[in-house]
Amino acid sequence: MEISQNTSLARYTTLKIGGDADQLYHPHTKEELIELVATLERENTPWHLIGGGSNLLVSSAGVKGAVIRTTHLTNIRVLSPGLLEAEAGARLPHLAKQAAKLGLSGLEFAVGIPGTVGGGVIMNAGAHGSSMSAILQSALVLDSLNGQVTEMGADQIEFEYRRCILDPKRHCVLSAKFVLDIAEPEVIEAKTQANEDYRWKTQPIGFANAGSTFKNPRPDRTAGYLLDQAGVKNLRHGNAAVSAIHANFVINLGGATSQEVTDLLREMQATVKEKFGEDLTPEWKTMGEFTSEELKVWEKK
Ligand SMILES: Cc1cc2nc3c(=O)[nH]c(=O)nc-3n(C[C@H](O)[C@H](O)[C@H](O)COP(=O)(O)OP(=O)(O)OC[C@H]3O[C@@H](n4cnc5c(N)ncnc54)[C@H](O)[C@@H]3O)c2cc1C
Repeated sequence: MEISQNTSLARYTTLKIGGDADQLYHPHTKEELIELVATLERENTPWHLIGGGSNLLVSSAGVKGAVIRTTHLTNIRVLSPGLLEAEAGARLPHLAKQAAKLGLSGLEFAVGIPGTVGGGVIMNAGAHGSSMSAILQSALVLDSLNGQVTEMGADQIEFEYRRCILDPKRHCVLSAKFVLDIAEPEVIEAKTQANEDYRWKTQPIGFANAGSTFKNPRPDRTAGYLLDQAGVKNLRHGNAAVSAIHANFVINLGGATSQEVTDLLREMQATVKEKFGEDLTPEWKTMGEFTSEELKVWEKK
């Protein structure tokens, strides 16, 4: 397992923002990960999990303790016809393409989601009318409170829109099993490609971002629509700006700080509140040192 000290996390997040982690660990097997969490718990060292870093705002002030990056846990295997298992660090776009090649349908929606299986389960990542909860049979989960590893069924994970019952400060998703339909690889590949093409047309290309910033307040009222109508596309704080392509995307123009991004999110929320009376809650998770004032932006109203 590779370990580095005082390592900048900016290169491990898609927003390209984040100060140093005291230690950064890259376990290569589930067993290494389980042992590492047990050791850190015994030593009372705070620990945090990072997958693709594609739904995260990491504090520019850094992260105390250990950050565990799962992206070396990449095994994918077919367990039986229609049942695919993937380790926590497997990238969703790669998994979607592998499933298509294997003639397994159901993961096409995930091809444009630049996260991992672990982060995808935690976030109940979804797109194109589907989500992880629609295809997940079970997840192998380490509970750091008691060191137990349990296979949890989808019903036990209690998925909701962009959330589930698992707490990334306590639970570690080690792997997941997906129930998929058997179909012609060419048909699945065409659908996967169409979903990927759609992304290129509708999302900002070339700027660091972390996908949709806010959750949709209601299924029939998207955050993107509210933000667009409220006229936030010209907002900017330092080097953090709202994308001109998609009002629910925040982009890092280069060297933005977590403080600038947080200030921008606060202003986006206030603008929508004033115009439509709707409260927006960020979809992103935070990691590291934030003031209580900054964290108010993340409170569900
Ligand atoms: C361009 C772009 C497009 C996007 N499009 C979509 C979309 O269409 N739909 C969608 O839902 N999301 C989308 N996202 C957001 C993001 O990709 C998803 O939320 C993804 O599932 C996050 O996975 P990750 O591995 O990057 O998680 P991270 O950002 O690394 O972490 C997210 C949270 O999960 C926790 N975590 C990570 N791994 C584990 C693990 N193994 N066990 C327990 N906790 C863990 C972290 O601690 C953190 O709290 C997009 C992001 C970008 C940048």
